[in-house]
Amino acid sequence: MLNIDPVRLADLFLLQSSRGDIGGEYGERVWPEVKPWLALGALAVGWCVVNSSEKLCLACGLCCDGTLFDNVRLVRGDNTKQLKQLGLPVEVSRAQKPITFFRQTCAALCADRTCRVYADRPAQCRSFECGVFKDAQGGRITFASALRLVKQARRKAESIRQLLRKLGDTDEHRSLGERFRRTQRRLESGSHDENAAACFAELGLAVHQFNLMAHEKFYTKVDEPTPASSASRA
Ligand code: SF4
Ligand code: SF4
Repeated sequence: MLNIDPVRLADLFLLQSSRGDIGGEYGERVWPEVKPWLALGALAVGWCVVNSSEKLCLACGLCCDGTLFDNVRLVRGDNTKQLKQLGLPVEVSRAQKPITFFRQTCAALCADRTCRVYADRPAQCRSFECGVFKDAQGGRITFASALRLVKQARRKAESIRQLLRKLGDTDEHRSLGERFRRTQRRLESGSHDENAAACFAELGLAVHQFNLMAHEKFYTKVDEPTPASSASRA
């Protein structure tokens, strides 16, 4: 997931700059003034050196924002304690075989779609690469086509979010799968007017179309992740 860490690149550049020519008393005086400019430069350099696949993930974020997955499962070797300390709300399911996981939308996903805990991210995040990413990396599709697919998927996901809001679910911090099932249960268990029924029918169709695309283009057979629909039942 999110194969990108431009912040780390920018930090590295800043660190190296701070160890460079700017030293001594003069340096101490000048450093605070040049630091903001170097920071800007570092971000620009960071952006230039990230490769196309990293740019693809920066434009996407679907595997972290609750669109493709409901949660991230932790496995042996993941440092649960550290992840908790880093602010990830780790839970243990009450199933017969308990599963340790944290929910998506991931608390570590930043507004610029970088990962706040990139260096310490769990195994599922390290290993998952979606089909679009793999196809672009392997040269089976161009990065321009991959980007178009990502944009298309994001548009479909946004339509689903809009319909969920229309139906009264504004819990943007939950995954799409969880919000859809919750809305479905609510509407099926109570009375609702014709408008809500029509909106829910539209939502069902939008989710179906998104799932078709997700299974065809994003979930991969090798990695077969825990798709959103089954993960939350853990
Ligand atoms: S879904 Fe694919 S392209 Fe999007 S962020 Fe995840 S790995 Fe990258
Ligand atoms: S920790 Fe969160 S933001 Fe980072 S790669 Fe995993 S799901 Fe994405």
